[in-house]
Amino acid sequence: MCGIFGIYNHKDAANITYLGLYALQHRGQESAGIACFDENTVHLHKQMGLVSDVFTADVLKTLQGTNAIGHVRYSTAGSSDLKNSQPIVVEYLKGHLALAHNGNLTNARIIRDDLRDSGSIFQTTTDTEVIVHLIARSKERNTADRLTGALNTIEGSYSLVLLTPNELIAARDPYGIRPLCLGRLKDSHIISSESCAFDLIEAEFLREIEPGEILVINEKGTHSLFPFKKVPRKHCIFEYIYFARPDSFMFGRTVYTIRKAFGRGLAKGDTVEADMVIPIPDSGIGAAIGYSQASGIPFELGLIRNHYVGRTFIEPEPSIRHFGVKLKHNAIHDLVKGKKLVVIDDSIVRATTSRKIISMLRYYGAREIHFRVSSPPTKYPCFYGIDTPSRKQLIASSHTVEDIKTYMQCDSLRYLTVEEMKDALDGGDYTFCDACFTGDYFIPFPRAMDMEQMELFSRQ
Ligand code: SF4
Repeated sequence: MCGIFGIYNHKDAANITYLGLYALQHRGQESAGIACFDENTVHLHKQMGLVSDVFTADVLKTLQGTNAIGHVRYSTAGSSDLKNSQPIVVEYLKGHLALAHNGNLTNARIIRDDLRDSGSIFQTTTDTEVIVHLIARSKERNTADRLTGALNTIEGSYSLVLLTPNELIAARDPYGIRPLCLGRLKDSHIISSESCAFDLIEAEFLREIEPGEILVINEKGTHSLFPFKKVPRKHCIFEYIYFARPDSFMFGRTVYTIRKAFGRGLAKGDTVEADMVIPIPDSGIGAAIGYSQASGIPFELGLIRNHYVGRTFIEPEPSIRHFGVKLKHNAIHDLVKGKKLVVIDDSIVRATTSRKIISMLRYYGAREIHFRVSSPPTKYPCFYGIDTPSRKQLIASSHTVEDIKTYMQCDSLRYLTVEEMKDALDGGDYTFCDACFTGDYFIPFPRAMDMEQMELFSRQ
């Protein structure tokens, strides 16, 4: 649950990184940071908050240098505070390095305990710091080989950018769980979690970083290493369902087209009669358009989202808490009154928000509410970098669809099935992780059950 960005060889490296992080803000809103090298001098600025709050023009002026990396964070391992923000910058025997990571290391706690037992001192509680310690202990001659050694020790998901005074290195785990792509802006190479950042800075999208690839960018150009054992690709399907921006190109497809395909899949075989299809904005919009096109039921924006509700919103007193859902979503009264609605959301986690939205639509006179979900029931937590709640908080892990329908008080409820989700990806090899729906965890997590899990889906 993070966004990473890196640029090599640009006179305005920090400014470009700032813009890149702006485009990646949806991937993390807790903290933001940029590190850059001016010859051998490292500059770093990171703070809690949104990119627009963390960086001012004066701050950006202090971030001199032609190479930079940046990070926006939503925590999956380690608490949400400044000491855990990234990039991590360290000085070790071979000099300075800066590192920014998106993912979750499943064996980080074991390695961390071992390192601490042998004398390492940790400054943060993030899994990312483990990588830095492993690099520092390596006897290999160059940074890429030291990084390779570190990555051979860890397990889990990672897309990362590493910066030294003369190199930018990008790496993606062998399963390719989290996205990462390569672009070019004139003579500069750029790395980004998502291609939408390239569009903002008018950079050319070159390609996705391959699963298991370590890409070294330096004055000689680019050089790829593939040092890991080949394993099947397991791209996170949840990036398509909810997390990524719809205008990004990821895992070989544009996210928006896949969201629409999931909506079409939902509509196929659905016999419900309704006056209109309305999405729960924003992430339900693509699927609702697909559903509308396939079913012939008109699409309407029956719910409007307030985009200015920050993450720091303070829960109101219990006596007025029922207003809470309206802070984020409100219905267009005249539109929904007396109507039979198909309401589309991307996923259901606890179902508390869905229930409140249904109650609000009924309050404004909706006659029937048929709730449709453009993903299968989320039954299992994610240990690979998306911050789902623990299993007992996932309503689908212990309740049937009929139970959930009764709880939400809708007239009918239907989820996309795993088979329909696969069909929507239009053939070819199925190269996706779907463990949060199937429980099919392909990377073991020896002590995962006591891994801390923080609450992500605050909207649900
Ligand atoms: S478990 Fe779900 S959220 Fe986690 S990587 Fe797999 S598909 Fe993505």
